[in-house]
Order: sequence, then structure tokens, then C-alpha cells
Amino acid sequence: MELTYKLLTPGPLTTTRSVKEQMLFDHCTWDDDYKRITQDIRAHLLRLAHVAPERYTAVLMQGSGTFGNESVLTSVVGDDERVLVCANGAYGDRLAEICRQAGVPVTVYAEPYDTPVDAQRIAAHLAADPSITHVAMVHNETTSGLVNDIEAAGAVAKRAGAAFIVDAMSSFGGIDIPVEDWGIDFIVSSANKCIQGVPGFSFAICRRDLLEGSRGKARSLSLDLYAQWQTMERDGGKWRFTSPTNAVLAFAQALRELEEEGGVSARAARYAENNRLLIERMRALGFEPYLTENQGPIITTFAHPADAAFTFREMYDYVKARGYVIYPGKLTDGDTFRIGTIGEIYPADILNVTSILGEFVATKRKEA
Ligand SMILES: *Cc1c(COP(=O)(O)O)cnc(C)c1O
Repeated sequence: MELTYKLLTPGPLTTTRSVKEQMLFDHCTWDDDYKRITQDIRAHLLRLAHVAPERYTAVLMQGSGTFGNESVLTSVVGDDERVLVCANGAYGDRLAEICRQAGVPVTVYAEPYDTPVDAQRIAAHLAADPSITHVAMVHNETTSGLVNDIEAAGAVAKRAGAAFIVDAMSSFGGIDIPVEDWGIDFIVSSANKCIQGVPGFSFAICRRDLLEGSRGKARSLSLDLYAQWQTMERDGGKWRFTSPTNAVLAFAQALRELEEEGGVSARAARYAENNRLLIERMRALGFEPYLTENQGPIITTFAHPADAAFTFREMYDYVKARGYVIYPGKLTDGDTFRIGTIGEIYPADILNVTSILGEFVATKRKEA
């Protein structure tokens, strides 16, 4: 039998058949209809971000989400500037790692993985060190499932005159983000998360004047955000190097399907209901969520019960054989696992997977 399952992971996600079918066509890249698809995607992303094309621009970048974060951080923070990275999870830590690796001046403000980033502490860092010119943080920390208050952080950054960079990889399209109203200057996400496309590229929505001012700062040839933007602008939607054509076609379809669903608010409501139902049903099975506060709708971390008569691996294999893939934990303290509630996933799937988990737990209890 053919192996098939749905992904309850934080990306890549389960996508619709109609999104995948777009990839059957091998499109050429140099002519106007392909470039128009890229331009339409760029314009669509600005609408999702609630920003005007006079003030913001969208730049697409080959590679996974990390490539997008790396492109922004290494292209817009100059050698004589400094970025404050606020980290409360592995993805925040990675933002700092990107900076250290590329020699981008960085200061880290760290919180424990179950604690939100605190805007007042950002303000204190900015007040204490005037060399800080940029603030960067993760919106939905996919490590735990915690949603940080980027609106409060953005207000503090603005007040101090610092540019604000947000990694909204696992939230953009699944949580509504009024980018300019929240003081965000650069926001990064990727094709294979809440917009429900397939992997292959990331994108950054950027304040035009700040992107213009970043000219000449890039430390990498292929991840040069300014150069990619210039090519896309001058040549009407051309990518500098080979474009992931099949993923781009799939993404254009994913954007149409997001509109058909009712836009970001409808999708956010579906994800929130998936998440609410998941936590309710998991609790009834004896699995407690790791977070007691600030839990977002994207992914939930559960503690592996200390007295469990089974390993994560056994549970994973059992569930996978029955049509769903769950995710190992990414926390350093304690044994945990994660279940994502995004992608082409509905409450019926949550009922299904929690029934399977219930069956598994009951079987193990009988064996013990
Ligand atoms: C998925 C994700 C990334 C990027 O990961 P890739 O594996 O490079 O796509 C970055 N930040 C967050 C918060 C994420 O969820």
C-alpha cells in the first residue's frame, strides 16, 4: 500500500491537491506571464500585510525560511550598526546564530522558552545601548507554540528609533498582522507555512525607504536582499537566479485558496478551533500543554507523561501508521512532543488523531 498521511507539523504542511497540481507544469521563467505571476504574488502579500505599495515592497527569496531570515539580517544591518535579538526559543536563538556566523554586530536578550519576550526589557536594552539600531524577534516561537507580543515590541522599537525585524515564519497568513500599524519594518515568512504552499522560497515584506538605505550592506551574493529587490523591480518580476518555478505556481494557487477560504481571519479562526479542540481532547487523555500562558493557535507542545508506559517513538509510529504525523519536541528541558494545527487540517482531523492517540494510550495501559 502506498504510504500516506497528513502532517501535524509546523511545516512543511499538508496542502490541497489543487495546490500540488499546479506543480505539474514546467513554466519558463524569462517571459512576461511568469514574471507577472511573481508580481501578482508580491502585490498579494502586501495586501495580506495591510500595507500600501508606496510604503512597503515584497521581495521573494529562494530557499527555506532560514534563508529569508538570513537574507534580511545580513542585508539590512550594517557593520557599524547593531541588532538586538530577543530570543525565547530555538528560532530566536537561530536569528542570533545567523548574525554571529556572518559577523553582523548582535546583542542577545534571552528569556526562558516558556516566557514571552518583554517589551519593557527591550526598552531597557535600547536605553542602555544607543549603538543598537535594529530589534529582531520571532512572532510565533515554533519551539514551544508561544506567541510573542510583537505589537508592544514594535511600539518600543519605534519610540527608540530602531528598525524592527520580525520572523513571522509560522504565523503570517494564520494570524492577522497589520504590519505598519504594529511598527514592523521587515517581516519574513515562507511559502510552506500558513499560506499553505509547498517549500522552495521565503519572502520579506520590507519598508521601502529602509530597504533603499540598505544598499551595499549585504554580506552574501545570493542572499543580497537589495539586489534581489532591484532585479524584481527593474525587470518586472524577474528573479536574480533560478526561480523555484513549481513552488511559485503552487504558491499563487495557495494565495487564491486563502482568499476562497475567507482570507486570513477565516483561516485564523479554523486554526484556533483546531488548537482549542486539540488541547481539550489531549487534556482528557492526560497530556498537559507545556505552556500555561501565551499559547498560540499554530502548534502546541505537550509534556510526555513521566509515568508513561510508552516512548514517543512508539506513539509516533502508531499514529503515523494510522494517517497522521506528529512532531518531536524541541525543548532542552524535559521530555515533550508537539502537534501542529495548521495546513489543510480541520477539526475532523483533530478528532481523528486524538481518537487514535486515545486508542494507543489504552492499548499501552492494558499491556502494562
Ligand atoms: C519554520 C520556521 C523557520 C524557518 O525554518 P526553515 O526550516 O528554514 O524553513 C524560522 N522561524 C520560525 C519561527 C519557524 O517556524
